[in-house]
Amino acid sequence: MTTNAALYPAERLTVVAAAVREAGLSALLLTPGPDLRYVTGYDAKQLERLTCLAVPAVGDPFLLVPRLELAAAQASPASGLGIETVAWGETESPFGIMKERLGPLGSVALSDRMWALHVLQFRDAFPGARQELASTVLSPLRIRKTPAEVSALREAGEAIDRVHAQVPGWLRAGRTEREVGARIAEAILAQGHVQVDFVIVASGPNAASPHHDVSDRVLDDGDVVVVDIGGTMPSGYCSDCTRMYAIGRPPADFAAYYEVLREAQESACEAVRPAVTAEAVDRAARDIIAKAGYGDWFIHRTGHGIGLESHEDPYIVEGNTTELAPGMAFSVEPGIYPGPHGARIEDILVCTATGYERLNNATRDLVIV
Ligand code: ZN
Ligand code: ZN
Ligand code: ZN
Repeated sequence: MTTNAALYPAERLTVVAAAVREAGLSALLLTPGPDLRYVTGYDAKQLERLTCLAVPAVGDPFLLVPRLELAAAQASPASGLGIETVAWGETESPFGIMKERLGPLGSVALSDRMWALHVLQFRDAFPGARQELASTVLSPLRIRKTPAEVSALREAGEAIDRVHAQVPGWLRAGRTEREVGARIAEAILAQGHVQVDFVIVASGPNAASPHHDVSDRVLDDGDVVVVDIGGTMPSGYCSDCTRMYAIGRPPADFAAYYEVLREAQESACEAVRPAVTAEAVDRAARDIIAKAGYGDWFIHRTGHGIGLESHEDPYIVEGNTTELAPGMAFSVEPGIYPGPHGARIEDILVCTATGYERLNNATRDLVIV
């Protein structure tokens, strides 16, 4: 298992503080969520009581926590960062404390997932301070995974592959999508995740809806089934993988476009290497699908970045001219949804110095159960 010390190195805070100064910000304020975890390793609960890491451009960073969360904060990797932890009591104003310690600010970057409840109180605490998104500073760092992060993503990929290996045993005519989904959710946890992020079991006509989850539809002979599943590992890193199954013989028109989809997914993977743009990877998949006449049925981007969030930068989409670089991790998941069925194939890839590493390795053939 990847250790916290490797995943969340103490030097990262220094790098982040330098990025705050470089961006001309007065301070970076992070409440619980993936940004705070990335910088400190602290997987804090998002609560109405304010927990906040402050990284000022001038002066030392500190972590403000509600007194009742102090023990949890001290037990987290954040305690190894050598920063001051400030506890606030139930009758104190945490925003007053922030104001007192940070003084007037010109501009402040707030975690992208901060609640409006806190954003607006920070606006009042620092009137006149321009509020920006923390991702302006953190995304360029988070987008390039370290070797430890890549191995955490590799562990997540292996765990979700083990779940897919069991799926054929659960797909049976007469069962509902919900029943199969419940088995899958248990397996996601049993295979090492600490959280089930999503379970899509989209059978028959539901397979034509990319973000269907589960329903009470009863599986039938001849159904094709999209199974798109993912969870979060103890490391904080996420899995996400889609495979296609059929109960008995799939419809004849399905077989034709499934072959096109396989080729499109493979070509998009083959396109991945440093200096290729994100949109070029999208085009590699889309051109093949469009040429085969299914372009109108590929209704979403080709992929999304993945790490501490299951959707993050870089997005693999037309218009994103970001050049891929070693350490970037993202999904390659073209789909074709003509109805009354549909298909998607999804792997997580990491861009390497010379090409790519695929983190999902279960068969991409249609699995007939
Ligand atoms: Zn999706
Ligand atoms: Zn997915
Ligand atoms: Zn995905």
